[in-house]
Amino acid sequence: MTMVASSAIADTTNPDWARIRADFPLLTREVQGKPLIYLDSANTGQKPASVIESVDDFYRHHNANVSRAVHTLGTEATDAYEGARNKLAGFLRVRADELVLCSGTTFALNLVAYSWALPRLQPGDSILVSRMEHHANIVPWQLVAERTGGRIKVAELMPDGSLDLPALYAAMTSEVKLLALAHVSNVLGTVNPVREICREARRRGIVTVVDGSQAAPHRSLDVASIGCDFYAITGHKMCGPTGTGALWARREHLQAMPPFIGGGEMIREVSFEGTVFNDAPHKFEAGTPNIAGFIGLGAAVDYLQGVGMDHIEARESALLAHATEELQKIEGLRIFGNAPEKAAVISFLIEGAHSHDLATLLDLEGVAIRSGQHCAHPLLQSLGVAATCRASLAFYNTHDEIERFVVALRKSRSLLA
Ligand code: PMP
Repeated sequence: MTMVASSAIADTTNPDWARIRADFPLLTREVQGKPLIYLDSANTGQKPASVIESVDDFYRHHNANVSRAVHTLGTEATDAYEGARNKLAGFLRVRADELVLCSGTTFALNLVAYSWALPRLQPGDSILVSRMEHHANIVPWQLVAERTGGRIKVAELMPDGSLDLPALYAAMTSEVKLLALAHVSNVLGTVNPVREICREARRRGIVTVVDGSQAAPHRSLDVASIGCDFYAITGHKMCGPTGTGALWARREHLQAMPPFIGGGEMIREVSFEGTVFNDAPHKFEAGTPNIAGFIGLGAAVDYLQGVGMDHIEARESALLAHATEELQKIEGLRIFGNAPEKAAVISFLIEGAHSHDLATLLDLEGVAIRSGQHCAHPLLQSLGVAATCRASLAFYNTHDEIERFVVALRKSRSLLA
């Protein structure tokens, strides 16, 4: 497979952020005649040229289906696809044969819901979730609870947006069989102490599912050491293509769980009398996968590791501190989520200005932020607001962009006054 080199992976001791930013072709475009300021990375991340080129290279030079053909292209495609699984496993520090490749976190959580929870939960059992969960980490559990006669229990938050840990532990009662929790909140930015929480859950015999969608792009992960049972990630938020993601699960769960989707590739032998399934993780990967997408995700992992996850975390902390300080100077602006451990996500409202109006006016200035409910209706209901604006930062953003965003925000607000 052709190696596509990134032009600007920096010296690991001192990343050259301007050169790193130049790896992202889209960031040079204009929107509404203004230079784009992309502050929506929690929604989806931008892609470096090396990721785009790896997908292009696959279709130009190697395109074939995986695991089916013995011809050269088939072998190249299979090697590259399995190579991507190995890279992702290295990134998460887990075993590759415990990593199920799938379309993203939504699929990964549904796989746990239908394949682990549905056959196991009994009437009266509970699934514990936190108030800050994304709908992808609520709705699958509701669907399963409806079918098993179970119920959903909710762990509430402190005013700063962090989990109320004593209340969470008190809620871990004997009828709770599963805890589903975000590692990092997509609305509040709160980083949850998942290692400590999973230890407490394990002590009480509760199986844990961690939604790592907003953690994997921003910090160095050691999933095996978190002590959870399942960990879900999504590729498109970590510089990879859309339609890629993974579920890590403890081996014993993968072996015990029945397949979720049936079809080709997940079987060893099929007859009309019955089917013998393949080993995990292939047992959960029916059908032709997003081969090019995963090759792109492998390139994204190479890219992130080339920059260095510790550098990325430090850079994003500095950008978050700068943006928070500047936004707090704006009269009437309220930030939702001030937990001591916080990722670079800032949800806010300005008194007297509707969030969609602000986002629309900011777009006219070339600034892309998200406004709405961020797939977290229960959280917004408890905050007592219908919607918020959300600016989410990534390492490719700049301090200058933050200054220009704040100027544009002040201007937009004045137009709504
Ligand atoms: N969980 C969280 C915390 C998220 O932010 C998102 C994406 N917005 C998801 C789950 C859903 O992930 P996917 O896009 O892979 O379906």
